[in-house]
Amino acid sequence: MSVMQAINPATGDVIATYPVHTKGEVGQKLDNAARAFRDWSRTAIDDRAALLVKLAGVLEANKETYARLMTMEMGKPIKEARAEVDKCAWACRYYAENGPGFLADDIVKTEAHKAFVAFRPLGVVLAVMPWNFPFWQVLRFAIPSLLAGNTAVLKHASNVPGCALAIEEALREAGLPDGAFHTLMIPSGMVGDVIEHGAVRAVTLTGSNAAGRAIAAKAGACLKKSVLELGGSDPFVVLEDADLDKAAEAGAASRLFNTGQACIAAKRFIVIDSIAKRFEEKLAERLLARKMGDPMDDSVALGSLARADLRDELHDQVARSLKSGARNVLGGQIPKDAGAFYPATILDGVEKGMAAFDEELFGPVASIIRAKDEAEALAIANDSPFGLGAAVFTEDKTRGERIAKEGLEAGVCFVNDFVKSDPRLPFGGIKESGYGRELGIFGIREFTNVKTVVVA
Ligand code: NAP
Repeated sequence: MSVMQAINPATGDVIATYPVHTKGEVGQKLDNAARAFRDWSRTAIDDRAALLVKLAGVLEANKETYARLMTMEMGKPIKEARAEVDKCAWACRYYAENGPGFLADDIVKTEAHKAFVAFRPLGVVLAVMPWNFPFWQVLRFAIPSLLAGNTAVLKHASNVPGCALAIEEALREAGLPDGAFHTLMIPSGMVGDVIEHGAVRAVTLTGSNAAGRAIAAKAGACLKKSVLELGGSDPFVVLEDADLDKAAEAGAASRLFNTGQACIAAKRFIVIDSIAKRFEEKLAERLLARKMGDPMDDSVALGSLARADLRDELHDQVARSLKSGARNVLGGQIPKDAGAFYPATILDGVEKGMAAFDEELFGPVASIIRAKDEAEALAIANDSPFGLGAAVFTEDKTRGERIAKEGLEAGVCFVNDFVKSDPRLPFGGIKESGYGRELGIFGIREFTNVKTVVVA
């Protein structure tokens, strides 16, 4: 029997072992989800919304258990894990309150007796999810999709199987009917067969570009809808009129949040020459002030990376960047102690052609790129295959708004703050960061049939 292991990356200890589902078991769960769809899609939307309010309660009641589970399986600081559970509960209540309105029939004036747009559920949606926010990534998809009347199957990342099962259990405890949400304990090699299965109507992936290409190709071959939330190498532009303390504080928070493993973390700090040295000093001060260590310790801000191989990959990217001419200002060494730890690191003098510019650095490594003026800073910011988030710092709010709206090629742009997801606001990327949107009104409509009804 094939198994999946959860390993604590901070210690290297095996936490638990889970059997992998066989093809037969997967088929059964997909059939169940298709059967459950028939009833679930016909329940009143207000009843589905009430279930989300219950789910918020279940999440809050079990916050400590879920937070510890996340921290054990993927090494994030426990304080951030607790905040992640709170954010999921917020999203439940937000959609319970606003989702029915987002999906209400939209009357369109035509010459007919009546014309309207209805938002109807699609069926079973497959979600392929990453480990970095093990609860939030799953729930930000599941909450609106279930509310819209879909049922769902989850293939979670192989290193967070305990979280995957805990989410399934939380939904059951909140009263979700049998079959409406299943966790599939499968390796990525089995995802193609699931996409192909007749019960599955659509697929959403949050993950790397490589996974995005594979899943989009399969969904395309099967002519099934897909939404892709992929990687990013977000620019964080600091202009000459920025408040440097504010920018350094936000930059440090953004780069170290989730131990640097966030798709929307500031990754390329593009700073105007005249203030670059001062900004770098302030950033270094703030990065150093954040304690690295046992992620279960409340005072720790920098936990372990999620897997030892990911830590080694990050270090290799740092080493290759240094070899091509980047300058190591802070960190950059693998600690001798056990665990997949990596220190807060700053690389200066980063340029196109270096790994720290061209690739996504998924860990606490800040790349500093210098620019002579605004035009050059924006050209550097947009010179990337990615287009997920972007931030710009300037004390001139009108200038900031113009740059955010017209100058930066990204799905989410923040002025004078770092990029964050928020249940009320659409979230997603352009270019190789993917397509489609999650959250807000756009997110809940992604997995619906936008149906035109005309009554002559
Ligand atoms: P990953 O390796 O792509 O894994 C994500 C999920 O896809 C996992 O469930 C994984 O399963 C599965 N998978 C991997 N390769 C696959 C394939 N060829 N076919 C089908 N499924 C496949 O990504 P990760 O390392 O977990 O997550 C980090 C990446 O996600 C980063 O690039 C980050 O920027 C991105 N991300 C994006 C967003 C966003 O909203 N845009 C949010 C968070 C993270 P296994 O675990 O079994 O391999």
